[in-house]
Amino acid sequence: MSERILIVGGVAGGGACAARLRRLDERAAIVMFERGPYVSYANCGLPYYVGGVIADRRRLLAVTPEQWRRWFNIEVRTRQEVVAVDRARRRIEVCELESGRRYQESYDALVLAPGAAPLRPAWPGVDLPGVFTLRSIPDSRALREWIENRQPRRAIVVGAGFLGLEMTENLARRGLRVTLLEKEPQVLPMLDREMAQPLQAHLETHRVDVRLQTCVTAIEATAEGALAVHADSGAVFSGDLVLLALGVRPEIALAREAGLEIGAAGGIRVDEQMRTSDPHIWAVGDAVEVRDWVTGQWRLAALAGLAARQGRVAADAIAGRASRFRGAQATAVCGAFGMTAAATGASQKDLQAAGVSGYQAVYVHPLHHAGYYPGAKRMHLKLLFGREDGRILGAQAVGEEGVEKRIDVIALAIQKRATVFDLEEAELCYAPQYGSARDPVNLAGMAAANVVRGDMPLAEWSALGSTGALLVDVREPGEYARDHIEGAVNIPLGELRARLEELPREREIWLNCAVGQRAYYALRLLLQHGFRARNLSGGYLTYWGWNP
Ligand code: FAD
Repeated sequence: MSERILIVGGVAGGGACAARLRRLDERAAIVMFERGPYVSYANCGLPYYVGGVIADRRRLLAVTPEQWRRWFNIEVRTRQEVVAVDRARRRIEVCELESGRRYQESYDALVLAPGAAPLRPAWPGVDLPGVFTLRSIPDSRALREWIENRQPRRAIVVGAGFLGLEMTENLARRGLRVTLLEKEPQVLPMLDREMAQPLQAHLETHRVDVRLQTCVTAIEATAEGALAVHADSGAVFSGDLVLLALGVRPEIALAREAGLEIGAAGGIRVDEQMRTSDPHIWAVGDAVEVRDWVTGQWRLAALAGLAARQGRVAADAIAGRASRFRGAQATAVCGAFGMTAAATGASQKDLQAAGVSGYQAVYVHPLHHAGYYPGAKRMHLKLLFGREDGRILGAQAVGEEGVEKRIDVIALAIQKRATVFDLEEAELCYAPQYGSARDPVNLAGMAAANVVRGDMPLAEWSALGSTGALLVDVREPGEYARDHIEGAVNIPLGELRARLEELPREREIWLNCAVGQRAYYALRLLLQHGFRARNLSGGYLTYWGWNP
């Protein structure tokens, strides 16, 4: 057991580590240093504090310094920044930010939990009044005060990731018209592009002005007192405030200057017990890089649940327990204007970037509960899996209801290295107001299992534009007339058996319907009649994602 344990950073990872340490070791002296004025606050709640959903800032404070002292006998020093680590002497140097006084503290074990800082590129005008980032309670208060004092009407949010979307919603809640700028060709770039399409459409129906492939180059103050955001295309967007939500960068300066190993992904390198390259120093949270559970590669993953889990593992390790952090699969969820997007494991983009091959994707678009029960909402779910072994690699879902529940189920399946056959058989709760006898998770598992078993050969959506296959749309004529894939012929499922002679035997046939179900029935029919056929997974709703 260590006698004197110092913790740098007093929010998610640092706090989790400190509390666990005390539960394991009543005698150790534990001191937590925090640069900011608050510890143990819910930074994930900040967008909702800005939006007014959380009216009282005190609701964000989970444990105060006084509670840390009384409940845990842990000393918290706020407004004190750890500025250097002397590894040879096992000492840190601390700066009291108010007085500027510097002093030293020695440790037996040191835990670095400094988090990650919002990206703030060196654009001209990036430091103008009215340009904000959001990480801390003071940041959120500054933003709220700007809104309350100046009554702005238009906001520009730069970056359409999780924070950008949450802030878009919360600024709209405050009555602002939001322009959302994103340099990628989609919103929420962690999703595959076709999965982000329903979300983008939803944002637009809520009057968000979404501008994709728009790279900001400068911000300037206008004569009218507004802010003009310039993009590389030459476009200029005008707003009364600008929020930068461009992602975060691990705070590694302290670790790097102390000579600790920094990994290729840009985070502090740690082992499975969160120990750095120095055996007396641990690191947790947004500042570290972790092994991706699916691809095995090192990556950054700035998520609160991971920071808390890593804090606990580090505490266990310091206390001599054998806990291990097994890696991250970046399970995440985000909502805006009543639509939820969630994901776990690898996206198709991640798999491509990691050089993984031999995977397949299926799409299903089921209702979130039984269709006959009022209020059923459609969701869009994509499942990625190994073509040969059926191992689940990742999932993404978007919809108004029940999305995060399905992703959570699949997240655990991925953690357990389960296969699509496990999803097919998963026994999940059902009553009409909650789900279906065949839950969306089961449906995705069944579709994927059909592929692995060879019962459902899939056509690649990405090859649609260049295929020589005959496209057959098996929906009803009215549905086909409303809209269809260019070049597709219409043979409704109900007529297919009687019209087989119209179909070529020498040419592949790609089948399409509304959501993939009728096309699957048609596929089984054609395969059993000796045709070479494939299914366009997820039908016309998937097509819409690929071709908005
Ligand atoms: P932090 O919680 O950032 O804590 C690090 C602390 O260390 C900071 O307070 C910093 O001031 C302090 N510090 C840094 N260097 C020093 C130093 N040298 N000396 C003293 N103190 C120092 N994650 C989710 O999973 N879901 C969400 O919905 C979600 N929403 C978020 C919304 C916002 C606005 C933000 C900012 C983050 C959100 N996150 C969310 C991410 C999540 O909050 C982080 O992953 C998590 O807080 C990381 O914990 P950490 O301990 O590594 O860093």
